[in-house]
Amino acid sequence: MVKICVFCGSSMGFDAKYREAAKEVADYFVANNISLVYGGASVGLMKILADTLLEKHKEVIGVMPQLLIDKEVAHHHISQMIVVESMAERKQKMIELSDGFIALPGGFGTLDELSEVMTMNQLRINDKPLGILNVDGYFDKLLEFFDHSVKSGFVRPEYRKNLMVSDNIAKLVTEMKNYEPLSIKKWVEDIKVESRH
Ligand code: AMP
Repeated sequence: MVKICVFCGSSMGFDAKYREAAKEVADYFVANNISLVYGGASVGLMKILADTLLEKHKEVIGVMPQLLIDKEVAHHHISQMIVVESMAERKQKMIELSDGFIALPGGFGTLDELSEVMTMNQLRINDKPLGILNVDGYFDKLLEFFDHSVKSGFVRPEYRKNLMVSDNIAKLVTEMKNYEPLSIKKWVEDIKVESRH
């Protein structure tokens, strides 16, 4: 795995543990020669990630729509900035460029990116691994909600099980390397049968 896209907060979060986790992920990328693809910002956890890699002269690729560049949140010292037209095109580009994805703590933007990749994986439009770094239980409530979605019949149990979650970056990346996409055929057949009732 050469390029990993990280989705994470444009905010720092209140607790120092979030900043420490972003730094740890960047240190892991440096040690394992992994390039970073990210939102291209110079704010929040994104800034910590990018700056830590840049200090060690590692590759950092940002993807940003012009509207965010105009708001002056772009990082001006990264290896490459890809400017796109829209937020939708940005997600598309980040997915295309990367070999895998990791979500760190973040807000709505992070959830949007995470959901996009989960949905693409479910539909097999994309077969690249997605890992959630559950820093100090930050994603526990979301994972509980996913369990609730399974219990309520809106998410297939196998897709919930296929989500990779860890609080340890090394373990998460190892798991991502062994990722096996699920077959969509049975899922589509099941949905058609269910919908007849
Ligand atoms: P959020 O989690 O709401 O802070 O949004 C962060 C995620 O959405 C990142 O992974 C970015 O790709 C994107 N994003 C949202 N706001 C910004 C911003 N001001 N600058 C750059 N990227 C952003």
